[in-house]
Amino acid sequence: MPSPGAQGPVESAAASAPPGAIGPREVLLASPRSLCAGVERAVEIVERVLDAARGPVYVRKQIVHNTHVVKDLQARGAVFVDELDQIPDPPPAGASVVFSAHGVSPAVRAQAARRGLDVIDATCPLVTKVHSEARRHAARGATIVLIGHAGHEEVEGTLGEAPDRTILVESAEQVADLRIDGPITYLTQTTLAIDETREVIDALLERYPHATGPGEQDICYATTNRQRAVAAVAARTGLVLVVGSANSSNSLRLAEVARRAGTPAHLIEDAAAIEESWLEGAASVAVTAGASAPQHLVDQVVERLRALGPIVSRRRKHSTPASPAPSAPSNSFRITRTSSKPDTTCTRGSCTPTTRTPTTSAPTWPK
Ligand code: SF4
Repeated sequence: MPSPGAQGPVESAAASAPPGAIGPREVLLASPRSLCAGVERAVEIVERVLDAARGPVYVRKQIVHNTHVVKDLQARGAVFVDELDQIPDPPPAGASVVFSAHGVSPAVRAQAARRGLDVIDATCPLVTKVHSEARRHAARGATIVLIGHAGHEEVEGTLGEAPDRTILVESAEQVADLRIDGPITYLTQTTLAIDETREVIDALLERYPHATGPGEQDICYATTNRQRAVAAVAARTGLVLVVGSANSSNSLRLAEVARRAGTPAHLIEDAAAIEESWLEGAASVAVTAGASAPQHLVDQVVERLRALGPIVSRRRKHSTPASPAPSAPSNSFRITRTSSKPDTTCTRGSCTPTTRTPTTSAPTWPK
């Protein structure tokens, strides 16, 4: 029993919140939301490498774009570096380096090989697929128009596959500046907004009707499903909260999609980032999370809302039969190294060296 005068969570939250933010509300949980299979796989790879490590485990760039995930792995011993030249040369005994889910360019792979680094590649297979398309089209002499955001790690990696044959385009307006002769193909970053990408593709096809490409299909299933789900709930609420880090492309796109549906939306790192003034008059709030944001952060957001009054929580599932999801990573897969060291077969909590077989990447997902 609470002691006399003690405040419960509602009372204590209410003490600091503006009156209009307090009261019963509906919470719509967009579904799907939160971690995708590619992110889960990348994080699990780092965890397993840490479990089996005999030396420092370096991770090039953020393994996925989420501050909490990175901090958790740092606490477990992972050392994040921006570039490989931040790793001591020669590397410490037993050191290994993990490439992030966003992929790397061939130049980075070559640098790792020159340095003799023990590399484990956590690139999402759906990013790897775009890289292989870039190589294939460059080999046939096509100019590749890569639709994406300048400076994003995934874009840097894909550009690096065929830098002399690839032109980055960020908007439909930029298509007017293109001067291309000969065959053209277009590829896209995997985490773009569906609608905006369609506009760029339409502008490109109007200018170059012979251009070929995958439509919006390079935008991965996880990005597509989460955007459609948030669009569906945004239309029914007065506020959308998107859990995700500010550098997470697919999280940023979720907030943009919600705003395009006419609903105010905020990208928040976690529950602590909610400003109670946003909640004034919001009798219904939708919550979603980018593909790199763990579900427990969503749970904390719901708890913060509950502290401001009773909530009715509803899950709004959006199914997209046209976008089949690849199967989730299995609990047993081979971590493939690009060094002379033995590969490692892991089942949860246990990794053992295995006989090297012809090099394949770990994913079992459909291409
Ligand atoms: S968002 Fe898409 S491309 Fe990125 S890791 Fe997830 S499944 Fe892979």
